[in-house]
Amino acid sequence: PSVPLYHLLEQAVQRHPNNIATIFMGHKLTFTQLKEQVDRFATALDALGVKKGDRVAVMLPNCPQTVIAYYAIVSIGAVAVMTNPLYMERELSHQLRDADVQTLIYLDALGQKVFNVLPQTRVKNLIVTGVQDYLPLPLNLLYPIKAKKQGQVLDVPKDRGILRFKELLQRHSPQPPRVQLDPENDLALLQYTGGTTGLSKGAMLTHKNLVANVMQVRSWFPDCQEGEERILGALPFFHVFGMTVVMNFAIYCCSTMILLPRFEIDTVLQQINKYRPTLFPGAPTMYVAVISHPEVKKYDISSIKACISGAAPLPVEVQEKFESLTGGKLVEGYGLTESSPVTHSNPIYGTRIAGSIGQPVPNTNVKIMDTELGTREMPLGEIGELCIKGPQVMKGYWNMPDETAKTLRDGWLYTGDIARMDEQGFTYIVDRKKDMVIAGGYNIYPREVEEVLYEHDKVQEAVVAGVPDPYRGETLKAYIILKEGQQASEQEIIDFCYKHLAKYKVPKKVEFRDELPKTMVGKILRRILVEEEKAKLE
Ligand code: ATP
Repeated sequence: PSVPLYHLLEQAVQRHPNNIATIFMGHKLTFTQLKEQVDRFATALDALGVKKGDRVAVMLPNCPQTVIAYYAIVSIGAVAVMTNPLYMERELSHQLRDADVQTLIYLDALGQKVFNVLPQTRVKNLIVTGVQDYLPLPLNLLYPIKAKKQGQVLDVPKDRGILRFKELLQRHSPQPPRVQLDPENDLALLQYTGGTTGLSKGAMLTHKNLVANVMQVRSWFPDCQEGEERILGALPFFHVFGMTVVMNFAIYCCSTMILLPRFEIDTVLQQINKYRPTLFPGAPTMYVAVISHPEVKKYDISSIKACISGAAPLPVEVQEKFESLTGGKLVEGYGLTESSPVTHSNPIYGTRIAGSIGQPVPNTNVKIMDTELGTREMPLGEIGELCIKGPQVMKGYWNMPDETAKTLRDGWLYTGDIARMDEQGFTYIVDRKKDMVIAGGYNIYPREVEEVLYEHDKVQEAVVAGVPDPYRGETLKAYIILKEGQQASEQEIIDFCYKHLAKYKVPKKVEFRDELPKTMVGKILRRILVEEEKAKLE
């Protein structure tokens, strides 16, 4: 894996110059065309003064410009900072300042948000693009982020010129500078974590980390045909899962990526029907959307051969139904930003275990350590913190030496996830360490309690969190969305729990809700629920 990321693109062009690299709503680029645009954009960045090691932020949905910008940035040794287009101003400002970004590439519809945070940052180069740069379609059809109404003027900063992505490509020839890179040590990416459990941290990922992970994922898909596969780009590339498993993987295998700027289920099904992807990496909520679509049978989705699901647990019913609809395989994997991200997966062929995240990918060592100090290795089968060592593990957190020292110890990544492992290496995630509740001296794992709640006939969705309590310090509370038309009392839920759980694990409070706070990949934001509870006490 000791090659720069850009080498993957060079190799694809050498081997399959005329293969289609990207399809974006019908618009296609071959590998040769893609590389030419990457080289032009890299030349433009160089002309703007972007140097090796500089951070360049990309705030775009999946579209050709995202792939072009990313590969151009890493090709000249600069560091890509992928930014979620749905970030609020507070999050955007934190990321731009923390990474000390001076060049930002953004989607035109996000202009006002960008301009509002600019004065707090050191950004000096603004490069704007619209998805319509590649398509003659009105933007809002594709990405309905509230753009300003027609005729309304944006508060464009007067002291800064804004460059157009497309013009930069036209103006510069494809002659980027040659930059010496050390794949082992030079950063390719500063990737901010999902922020599910707290403040988002910048994981420093090297060229080697990212290339190694693509190769590790390749071994998961043994019958991958170089130059033949088509990969559905439903996962966003601003998240490391989509970046590695779709974007970099497609380039490594000289495959076509079908770019979807957002997950809108009707469009997703139409695109599958039309472009016949063979691979569909996703998050559980995406597969749920496919199987619950009332007209799914109208679409031909039988091209799908293999899917890897990550980010959150994959329910068995979802796996089974999806497999029977497509005839392909859907397996659960696991990873985190700090490990580029994939560390585990169930195999496509051979033994897989429902409810398990599978076995470590090649070259990945795993151990389970005690949850208190993390210094004692737990006996096989016992619960503890999952720790990982391998070529995909980050160098550390950006500007956070204390967090780095806590998370990386002797080359081992402490994942913050509690798990157990069997003798074959199959691993089961019990819960996140940060979500563990300590009540009356006992450790309680909310996920275990949630699984019981899901067995209640009337419950559609359930979350359990340790919330502050003026008498007990911390107490267990359940938040429940009931199935449509159902009614239940707090006591009824509590009584149900008493029947199936030891007394100390039973939630003391229950609240019924219509909605629960979630991240974009469908992870429930327990910390928001806890913050609400804290605010009530103040
Ligand atoms: P932050 O670290 O900032 O709180 P985050 O954990 O959401 O945010 P990511 O790196 O995107 O950041 O997510 C990694 C986490 O996702 C893992 O640590 C794990 O808790 C969870 N996860 C990933 N895959 C699975 C899976 N198959 N089953 C259960 N949990 C999973």
